[in-house]
Amino acid sequence: MSTTAEPSLFSRIAAREIPADIVFENERIIAFRDIAPKAPVHLLVVPKTAEFANVTELAAADPALLAEVVAVAQQLADEHCDGQYRLVFNTGAQAGQTIFHVHAHLLGGTLTEGTLGQ
Ligand code: 5GP
Repeated sequence: MSTTAEPSLFSRIAAREIPADIVFENERIIAFRDIAPKAPVHLLVVPKTAEFANVTELAAADPALLAEVVAVAQQLADEHCDGQYRLVFNTGAQAGQTIFHVHAHLLGGTLTEGTLGQ
């Protein structure tokens, strides 16, 4: 029996097997619009590697890649929402994580005051 894991949804988007509204791509990162936006601007900024399930694993193993995710988020916020944004990494199912391939939610536009949104 094969033990090979299925590619994650985000790996399949990066491979163009599943369509998405891609707004940024370089060698290590891809970003696209969330299919169910929770804010006027809701982008997902995703390292292409599926090696890390969450931001804690990414920070421990490849802090430079995490810093690049943040830099790409800032660049996208500059382009889409006046440079102001909220960056969310759901970590664990109880925190709302449904896809265990690390990704940042970039939320922008006018966000609800006094809440953490979503
Ligand atoms: P999580 O809940 O794991 O933090 O975030 C997963 C995000 O992926 C959710 O906000 C969900 O709306 C988004 N999502 C799920 N399936 C798709 C899809 O097929 N395409 C896109 N663009 N986003 C998706």
